Amino acid sequence: MSKCAACGRDAPEKKKYCRHHEQALGRLQEHYSVWVRAYGSGDNISWQDYLRRLSDMTQEQQAGEWVKEVIRAEMKKEKESV
Ligand SMILES: [Zn+2]
Repeated sequence: MSKCAACGRDAPEKKKYCRHHEQALGRLQEHYSVWVRAYGSGDNISWQDYLRRLSDMTQEQQAGEWVKEVIRAEMKKEKESV
């Protein structure tokens, strides 16, 4: 049994996140691809740049807790792998 990287709950086998965080990540990735297209033309925004900007934004906005937790987990993962 896997554990969710964001909340430590049981996650489906071979999945990084539980059902809720998986869903939140899916929404983030969709939004990210929209962003990349919108900001496109040469100004490449990496997944980590996007997460950083988003986490600044979510400080002020009422983003869902699931989304915030996924952002934190994704940013933490990057720090650990550097
Ligand atoms: Zn979770």
